[in-house]
Amino acid sequence: MAGNITFTMIKPKAVENGHIGNILAKVIEGGFKIKAMKYLRLTKEQAMEFYAVHKERPFYDELTDFMSSGPIVAAILEKENAVEDYRKLIGATNPAEAAEGTIRKLYATDIQANAVHGSDSDENAQIESNFFFSKLERF
Ligand code: GDP
Repeated sequence: MAGNITFTMIKPKAVENGHIGNILAKVIEGGFKIKAMKYLRLTKEQAMEFYAVHKERPFYDELTDFMSSGPIVAAILEKENAVEDYRKLIGATNPAEAAEGTIRKLYATDIQANAVHGSDSDENAQIESNFFFSKLERF
């Protein structure tokens, strides 16, 4: 059964480019409720831990440098079928391949600075949400 939460981050470049408001508007228009949210900057070590599943990939060092380069917005989003529906709303990993109207098509710069993160499974949505938020920070 599909879960009802997903985890997202607005990545440093999209924050720097002033897209927080527009991205959150798309999220809310897309029918997602914000269950938790914070504005913070990851350390390199925290970014490495978050992206540990990618540690064998050639872009791991560059990606974790980027994700710790400036503040991000982290959030837990709630909706029926959240993981799949959010992946549809954000579009393909590579913004050049993302469908028109998707968040990555509208606000990403390149494959690394692709505007937002979205969990790829219900299991990862739980793991990633727990990485950032305690029970007291969820509504
Ligand atoms: P996602 O689930 O769509 O975010 O994609 P992945 O799990 O495959 O990759 C995680 C993140 O790594 C992506 O969102 C990008 O920020 C970054 N990434 C993916 N592929 C590449 C790549 O080929 N080069 C670089 N520099 N970064 C990449």
